[in-house]
Amino acid sequence: MALEPELFDALIDTVRRFVAERLRPLEAEVEAADAIPEHLVEEMKALGLFGLSIAEEHGGLGLDMVEEARVAIELGRTTPAFRSAFGTNVGIGSQGLVIAGTPEQKAHWLPKIARGAIITSFALTEPDVGSDSGSVKTRAVRDGDVYRLSGTKRYITNADKAQLFTVMARTGEEAGGRGVSAFLVPRDLPGVSIGAPEQKMGQKGARVADVIFDDVPVPVANRLGDEGEGFRIAMQVLDRGRLHIAAVCVGVAERLIADCVAYASERRQFGKPIAEHQLIQAMLADSKTEALAARALVLETAAAKDAGANTTMEAAAAKYFASEMVGRVADRAVQIFGGAGYIADYGIERLYRDVRLFRIYEGTSQIQQLIIARETLKRGG
Ligand SMILES: Cc1cc2nc3c(=O)[nH]c(=O)nc-3n(C[C@H](O)[C@H](O)[C@H](O)COP(=O)(O)OP(=O)(O)OC[C@H]3O[C@@H](n4cnc5c(N)ncnc54)[C@H](O)[C@@H]3O)c2cc1C
Repeated sequence: MALEPELFDALIDTVRRFVAERLRPLEAEVEAADAIPEHLVEEMKALGLFGLSIAEEHGGLGLDMVEEARVAIELGRTTPAFRSAFGTNVGIGSQGLVIAGTPEQKAHWLPKIARGAIITSFALTEPDVGSDSGSVKTRAVRDGDVYRLSGTKRYITNADKAQLFTVMARTGEEAGGRGVSAFLVPRDLPGVSIGAPEQKMGQKGARVADVIFDDVPVPVANRLGDEGEGFRIAMQVLDRGRLHIAAVCVGVAERLIADCVAYASERRQFGKPIAEHQLIQAMLADSKTEALAARALVLETAAAKDAGANTTMEAAAAKYFASEMVGRVADRAVQIFGGAGYIADYGIERLYRDVRLFRIYEGTSQIQQLIIARETLKRGG
């Protein structure tokens, strides 16, 4: 436990009430505006949500992975876009710095990230480079005390608000990930520009855009780790990020199941609540079983990670299973709601669209399968 048990229980209780009382009532508004109201972002900062995973010495709450997963499950009980407001600060935007930053880099950036004074983003994907992320084409060419950074990053979450990017760029001639280095790139360096936010299928309020680097002079002091270590750092960042995403999937599934129970208990057909029809019960049973299985997998993997185990395979399995699971749960939820499941007012179709992303970002389901198979073969079972 990183936090005292009573403090952690109080945090969970506060987050649960924040989700129920402050976030859930604004889900439709956020969907319509494709933006999270600034006053809510300020409340998230006050709760410490931007620094969940950052050490206390740097101004964060210093949660361990089990605690972070439990908070992420609570946050999953509302539209996932809310979590995205601070998700990159807690996860992929900050963890490269946490894993590989120098004491000076950490002292300079982490306190600002932890209190939400700046937003960070993680920039790996490019127009021609997605799943094959070791083949990045963005280049960083050493020129005295700086690297000259040029290239385009695509679908970067929170790019429009970020003041700091963790950027993976090619510094060497070695093929694949071995030639890739990681850099901390402030938004205000000359030559950094941001594209227009993309129109997305779901998770409205969480915005993605291109980030374009045009001969940007990045100080050598902003490199994370040694030259050639960037891909390894990115993969470690994703190991943790995948577990966090899996936990969010569990939370959304639990929310959908609760919505289904409430609706099926009220809605009457053939003279009784539809919850009393066994074919409805079968769908509820399947959803509940799968959500319980995903919760157990996430928390067991988080505990193993906290104990220092290599959880690359288990984190990929958790993300694969939980993201596919919540897709099935959302599909059954639409079915249980019937026509209402397809109508925007009930919010089920919105969550159905929202959860589709979980099978794609931070590595598609196919990439998780490849990781699980590779690690299983390596471990001999
Ligand atoms: C809303 C959103 C937010 C995102 N946020 C970020 C972010 O903050 N930072 C960032 O760097 N990226 C981000 N991404 C990018 C995301 O991680 C990629 O979209 C994802 O990794 C897939 O890459 P791709 O889109 O290029 O698909 P592709 O790699 O082109 O894949 C297309 C299809 O081919 C399959 N495929 C690819 N290779 C194989 C293989 N070897 N075997 C079998 N099947 C394969 C894939 O599984 C997929 O089904 C975001 C994307 C979205 C949509």
